[in-house]
Amino acid sequence: MDGSTISPQHEKVVILGSGPAGLSAALYAARAELNPLVIGGIEPGGQASLTDTIENYPGFPDGIGGAELGDLFQKQAERFGARVLFEMASAVKLNQHPFEVTTDSGIYTTDSLIIATGASPVHLNVPGEKEFTGKGVSYCATCDGWFFKGKSVAVVGGGDSAIEEALFLTRFATSVTIIHRRDSLRAGAILQKRAKEHPAISFAWNSVVDEVLGVTKVTGLRLKNTVTGEQSTLPVDGVFIFIGHTPNTGMFTGQLDMDDKDVIKVNNLLETSVPGVFAAGEAADSHFRQVITSAGMGAAAAIQATHYLENL
Ligand code: NAP
Repeated sequence: MDGSTISPQHEKVVILGSGPAGLSAALYAARAELNPLVIGGIEPGGQASLTDTIENYPGFPDGIGGAELGDLFQKQAERFGARVLFEMASAVKLNQHPFEVTTDSGIYTTDSLIIATGASPVHLNVPGEKEFTGKGVSYCATCDGWFFKGKSVAVVGGGDSAIEEALFLTRFATSVTIIHRRDSLRAGAILQKRAKEHPAISFAWNSVVDEVLGVTKVTGLRLKNTVTGEQSTLPVDGVFIFIGHTPNTGMFTGQLDMDDKDVIKVNNLLETSVPGVFAAGEAADSHFRQVITSAGMGAAAAIQATHYLENL
């Protein structure tokens, strides 16, 4: 140690997250000549990249792969000067200006910050789930579906994600059992119809998973009927859990106003409780949670950050 200190790198705009919100913010900030720095986390493209096919993003009438769409978002932002780093931000200081962002590799100061850190899958929190994660328990059919070629799997949940991923898993698995805690699905009508008509898909209605069973890997699930309380065992080789998401906002606790589900509160200009800090995508929205709505929020946040910087 020579006692010298390295000054933090200063930026006009730092964007946290590289999903549709973060990269759309990057595109708009780059086109406003702000040379944004995206600290993209370790999952390039966010949750959308883990989706096999996205069929409801306008402009792609035949659908587009989630990872491919993420790559296109990134290329388009970079074309106008955005810089994208795939590292994790570990801390922020928002009670000072410029704000400070610490990552795995350094410290940045920034005049404005756009938070687009997205959300992560909710866990069941039952015995065996943690132990067998990666050994039959998965939260990503696109990532792990291939390992279940010719095998039996279960999918937990009744929303769009669960049904979409169950349909995707039929490409590999010979049988897919959807386990849902009620007797009707939350998923949209088109997905419901496809799943109910699919010969490889069956349903365990009014059922919850009490335990993931296995020795070195998953061999089955202990189920409980939510109406009768009756227990049963479902032999499966894998279980895919899609029971919702929780926002990745822990870093901002105590620094930004959030709702009771830790979603960052923003006004219709995407402003948070701290001037100069904007939030977009699932970190700030638990209602719409679509690629297009996240992308729109990201663009709007960058437009507002541009106005903020003009008046600074
Ligand atoms: P979601 O809509 O919140 O659905 C979560 C599902 O998990 C629900 O069926 C819920 O049951 C069940 N669940 C929650 N906690 C549970 C627990 N502890 N044990 C057992 N089951 C539990 O989440 P999502 O499916 O991830 O969708 C999130 C958002 O993304 C939604 O707005 C959705 O429309 C959107 N999305 C859209 C598409 C598309 O348009 N193609 C694809 C994926 C996601 P209940 O029904 O009883 O509450």
